[in-house]
Amino acid sequence: MSSPWAKASSEPVQAASLADIMSEQYAHKLHDKEVKRFQQKQEQQEKQRKDSEEDTASYADVASTSKPSEAGDWQDYSMLLKDEEVTPEILALLQDDAESDAVIARLLQSQFDHEYNEELRRIERQQNKGSKVTVTLNKYLRDGDTEFLHDTEEEDYEDDERQKQDWDRFETNEKLLEAIPKCGFKVDKEGEMITKHDPQLCGVRNAQRVMNFPPEFPTGDAACFDMKLSNKVYNQLKAYSRRGRADRKEKVATAEMGVDAATRLLLYKLINNQILEKINGIISTGKEAVILHANSDRSYTGANEHGHGNGVLMSPDLLPKECAIKVFKTTLNEFKQRDRYIKDDYRFKDRFSKQNHRVIINMWAEKEMHNLMRMQSIGLNVPDVVVLKKHVLVMRFIGDNHNAAPKLKDARLSAAELSCAYEEIVAAMHKLYNEAKLVHADLSEYNILWFEGKCWFIDVAQSVEPEHPSALEFLMRDCSNIVNFFEKRGLPNIYSKEQLFEFITALNTDTLNAAMLERIHTKGANVSQATAPHQSECPAELQPLEYPFELAWEKSLLEREAAAALKQLQLKEEEGTLEQSTANSAD
Ligand code: ADP
Ligand code: MG
Repeated sequence: MSSPWAKASSEPVQAASLADIMSEQYAHKLHDKEVKRFQQKQEQQEKQRKDSEEDTASYADVASTSKPSEAGDWQDYSMLLKDEEVTPEILALLQDDAESDAVIARLLQSQFDHEYNEELRRIERQQNKGSKVTVTLNKYLRDGDTEFLHDTEEEDYEDDERQKQDWDRFETNEKLLEAIPKCGFKVDKEGEMITKHDPQLCGVRNAQRVMNFPPEFPTGDAACFDMKLSNKVYNQLKAYSRRGRADRKEKVATAEMGVDAATRLLLYKLINNQILEKINGIISTGKEAVILHANSDRSYTGANEHGHGNGVLMSPDLLPKECAIKVFKTTLNEFKQRDRYIKDDYRFKDRFSKQNHRVIINMWAEKEMHNLMRMQSIGLNVPDVVVLKKHVLVMRFIGDNHNAAPKLKDARLSAAELSCAYEEIVAAMHKLYNEAKLVHADLSEYNILWFEGKCWFIDVAQSVEPEHPSALEFLMRDCSNIVNFFEKRGLPNIYSKEQLFEFITALNTDTLNAAMLERIHTKGANVSQATAPHQSECPAELQPLEYPFELAWEKSLLEREAAAALKQLQLKEEEGTLEQSTANSAD
């Protein structure tokens, strides 16, 4: 078969004088000539089509489906031309026609390319059959093939139609399911109770869900019969269909969200374990973490097909619709900035040494999770934790419909709202320190979100307990950030940073310097002793420590020893009462 382009003939261009060109008569002549040329071209295409019809039926299909009434249209134009009333509309029609010709030509070309490529592939298969050396003809493949293959509007339409049929039938079933109220059961006309776990109904529901699988997952033609699937079969199918889907999502995550292979695997698992439905994109990229937006999987039941809860920290009905995924970055550079916070935190002390960086980053994420939960337990507004997997923390998305709540710095607040926000933050800092025994340590207008008229506190991985050797220093910095922000916004009658500090800690900053404050605080000593003017008068335990880290370590050891001693005592007591009771019974 030869290319349709090959037969196209080009007419030589004839020279004409300017006077001729300007004359009306010449214009008509030219027009007639043009029309004649179209006619010839049309005939030529007709002939070509007939030729190819004999050759291959598909060729004719392409031409006829794309322009069914072409020949008819053409005759109409020639009739108009006979009256010699050539209006601009007719000219425009003619031009349209020429464009349609171009479309047909392109279709024919891509059909040709497609068949040409098929032939090459056939040759390739034949050559490679049974041969140890494989030959590839990829280099000779024609490009137009793709254009043809993607031009599938018709197929799309057919798909839509088919889906509609499916859904028409499913609609009836759906109504049946919807008729079951929230309590999970209903009593039918015969007085029989139908629950949402009814095998019949579950089967129908599962069949409906299967139709929602990704298009490349072959579900068969479910439109011809009332398909029902048991939960077991459905779960297996779902897990299988997701394998491919998660893979795609995960690829998107890599390409667009810049996360590494290990993180990709974790995200993949979150999807595969039916916790997340899809990961949509980046909310923020900081130097320490990437925040992604995701939708949770509405069909999450609290356990996967193996019956595992997958570490989800809430019941399925509380699973937020939209989630934020915080992926802690795992490179050395960023880690260095954090080590100050975590190294000195005695809660993590014994796990800090001799660990590789990845493990430490995981601890960092764990710290954020614990701190969030602790803050939530005293009633502060923080995102609920959904699940933690290594350095990936999934929490509730603060915001709605994919719009993240603004940071306090970006929120447009009225004077009244600004005042409310201030009161709320001051109260929260007090509560955080005195009830949750935490210092945020990175509190500022950047880590407070404004949502539904309230302040939401985020980014608490670096938060420390007041016992942390630098806790008070961090707290003073937090106070300074908050006071500066509200001062800049012009809120009157607010605390100075020292006053705020004193309000939170009840420690007076006028008489105490920061180093002393820390010592008093960590040792729980009384102020007059700790502030003794001469170092020698200061009790040994309040002397400045060269390595504050040692202090935290000592403290954690003491606590552990005390806990062990208490346990031993309890055991002994239990043994004692047991002996006594046996002696009594022997008597
Ligand atoms: P970083 O350590 O990079 O500062 P953050 O936890 O502060 O990480 O998150 C960075 C940004 O991502 C925040 O300023 C906020 O805009 C957005 N963000 C973080 N967590 C959430 C959440 N749960 N809901 C909505 N947006 C969030
Ligand atoms: Mg932040």
